[in-house]
Amino acid sequence: MTLTPMMRQYLDTKEQVGDALLLFRMGDFYELFQDDAEEAARILGITLTSRDKGTNATPMAGFPYHALNQHLGKLLAAGRRVAICDQVEDPKQATGLVKREVTQIITPGTLTDDALLDPRTANYLVTLAAAPRGKPAGMAWLDVSTGRLTVADVANDFLAEELSRIEPSECLVPEENPFPAEVLLAVSNAVVTRRPPWTFARQNATDLLQRHFGVTSFAGFGVADDASSLLAAGALLQYVMETQRADLKHIARLIPYDRGRVMILDATTRRSLELTRTLRENKREGSLLATIDRTTTAAGARCLGDWLSHPLLDVEAIRYRQSAVAEWKDDPSSRSRLRELLRQTYDVERLAARVSTGRTSPRDLACLRSTLRWLPEIKAKLTGRQSRYNADLDENLSLFPELRARLEETLVDEPPIQLRDGSIIRDGYHAELDELRQIAAGGKQWIADFQRREAERAGIPTLKVGFNKVFGYYVEISNAHRDKIPEDFQRKQTLKNAERYITPELKEYEQKVLGAEERAKSLEYELFQRLRDEVSSQTIELQRLAQLLAELDTLLSLAELASSRQYVRPQVTEGSDLDIKGGRHPVLDVTMPAGRFIPNETRLDAEGETRLMLITGPNMAGKSTYIRQVALVTLLAQVGSFVPADSATIGVADRIFTRVGASDELGRGQSTFMVEMIETANILNNATAKSLVILDEIGRGTSTYDGVSLAWAIAEYLHDRTRCRTLFATHYHELIQLEETMAGLGNYNVAVREWKDEIIFLHQIVEGGADRSYGIHVAKLAGVPEEVLRRSQAILDQLERDPFGEQLHTPPQGQPTKHRRSYHQLSLFPTITAHPVLDQLRIVDSEELSEAEALALLRKLKAEL
Ligand code: ADP
Repeated sequence: MTLTPMMRQYLDTKEQVGDALLLFRMGDFYELFQDDAEEAARILGITLTSRDKGTNATPMAGFPYHALNQHLGKLLAAGRRVAICDQVEDPKQATGLVKREVTQIITPGTLTDDALLDPRTANYLVTLAAAPRGKPAGMAWLDVSTGRLTVADVANDFLAEELSRIEPSECLVPEENPFPAEVLLAVSNAVVTRRPPWTFARQNATDLLQRHFGVTSFAGFGVADDASSLLAAGALLQYVMETQRADLKHIARLIPYDRGRVMILDATTRRSLELTRTLRENKREGSLLATIDRTTTAAGARCLGDWLSHPLLDVEAIRYRQSAVAEWKDDPSSRSRLRELLRQTYDVERLAARVSTGRTSPRDLACLRSTLRWLPEIKAKLTGRQSRYNADLDENLSLFPELRARLEETLVDEPPIQLRDGSIIRDGYHAELDELRQIAAGGKQWIADFQRREAERAGIPTLKVGFNKVFGYYVEISNAHRDKIPEDFQRKQTLKNAERYITPELKEYEQKVLGAEERAKSLEYELFQRLRDEVSSQTIELQRLAQLLAELDTLLSLAELASSRQYVRPQVTEGSDLDIKGGRHPVLDVTMPAGRFIPNETRLDAEGETRLMLITGPNMAGKSTYIRQVALVTLLAQVGSFVPADSATIGVADRIFTRVGASDELGRGQSTFMVEMIETANILNNATAKSLVILDEIGRGTSTYDGVSLAWAIAEYLHDRTRCRTLFATHYHELIQLEETMAGLGNYNVAVREWKDEIIFLHQIVEGGADRSYGIHVAKLAGVPEEVLRRSQAILDQLERDPFGEQLHTPPQGQPTKHRRSYHQLSLFPTITAHPVLDQLRIVDSEELSEAEALALLRKLKAEL
């Protein structure tokens, strides 16, 4: 088959972009061909057609260029990378085939377009580089839309944890991917892109970084020159250069990440505490972050998300934030004014990135200008604050007076989004521009005069001057006046009822006017570029400003939250205690109607009387809510936030571990019980005396005997060996006896009131073990049929009368009992009352059976046992 030149150009381009879908600009459309067309038609629901006929027929699909963003979003959401090939010369000027080039490759991790990004969430591209044996792996992560590039050397064991903290949308790994499977599972929501090994090679990676940052050593950034993270950063930068094809000045430095400063939060804990996304729907809405977010700017929301994912360990660092929050909490009028001011500012961080990648619009710079206008008032509100953090913000807040003055004098009040259309630069800013504009405008006036003059001269009142793109200016005269046409009129075009003419005088003026307009536009463009370069030269300072405003917004948000939801400042200590009075679950506290959430107390101390709280109680009583609440209050305290409680003292936890609920991990090919045990093993192997562990319903995924035994031994291990603060919720009543042998264990249960056959959960955690599980009551609430409820009540009554299994519940000989309490237990060894074999025996009429039938039935029943 012979290829048309255009198809050859297409195929050549397609070869350059690998597996990305190629959007090929043709006139006002972006077209896809061949397999790409079929795939895009499926994803976008657009029509699949065919280009050329017969043997040359090629599948084709396309959409108008202005629908690009809308379609791009869908292609990216489907996990595809997209290459955009544009016409890089004016088709009118092209001789032969229009020149086309790939101008950008867009991938989920390299988005910069505001229309495709969620303004309130960072969009990370992560890169993992393997290191030689015995050395930690290299990690680098970048938000291209802001230019923030962070690096860390991380041991393989912690890669999954850090990845899940970052929540990347794309992850680069070397082609042969040397990482264990669970590492990539941690980024299961991200597109994984495999990259050629040479991009990770030390020489290549460091050369590229050195050139980009203009340094010979990375020590100035606080990164060791032999760090594995440099391999990752180099590979990352290579990829971003290939995909962005733009200036990357906004990636101005490497930010080293110090894992030692932050609480370890593994993926399971993040998920089960629903820190930034909900467990079920994986959405931001309903998460802790969304619930506490009172920021007024997008950058502030991103900063709050970052803080929440990185609770601090250092008491001083926590207090540094707390004091600033306290200061804003106590000054409601400044707080509300500042929040109002910040609401008026624009996302300077993303704006600065667009400026330095050359993808900025005149409107962007006007937004920057209006943001700078608010700075003096923001600074005034920061001045004279007592807390060190606020004082630091004040000191570091520059007002950019020169940049602001330049923007004020250069840009018109409301510049357009488009660059080409002119009307960007203020009158009076540039003498030549003013002159050109005058000529252009004056020319128009002249044309009006000319029309009047010529109409008089020729005696044709309907004579009109018009303009079109092909002929330029012309004089139009209707056929009724054809006999009056002056001699110097040259005919250009004949219409149905009129003719069009030009005159030498008109032609001369036309050239002057059009030329002036064109020149004015290109001069404006040039002046705008100059202004943009000036802004771009201050990228780093603007990034600093953006960071500062984001932190201020975050502090104000925490203060607003504390004030509106009656949070208190927790006493954060180096100790190992956890003392919460009137504690509330931060999310339920908001979602439940006011006053309905029941606050609870917590008193734990790894070195004091109780380090392990064993919470028994019926399902639906509020056990999970309670233990999560304690974890969330601790976490918020270490973020520097106030907490939902009447008072709280919190000894800093090095890690929070959770093993809660049946997580939806079945997709990973492991049984629920296996997952539960893997998570438990992780806790037992890694928790330290400074950790906080919350365990919910351990052992539920296996048989009762296994379950109780495991739960029992796990509680013992945490109590005796790890000696950390632990909250252990269980419906195994057998465990309450552990109190007899474990000095640091306290039994608690959730209070229940029985009232006229009904049971009311009081959601109050009280001392002592629970004595009944009320499972039948919960089944009733859930709508289980009356008949089944009655039958299970009968079975329960029978079981409760049965004395079997008592020996398991009596304290071991010679052990003193801490509290005198009698509890009645359900037997672990129930009499068999329900079994399919029994059911069959009950219905069989033995008198009716022949001997042979009886024998056959006996064999069958035996086989069913
Ligand atoms: P459990 O873990 O004991 O089965 P949950 O913690 O899941 O119970 O709580 C069940 C329901 O009870 C929750 O969805 C919530 O509606 C309610 N609840 C729990 N704790 C409280 C509380 N402290 N105050 C008010 N309602 C609560």
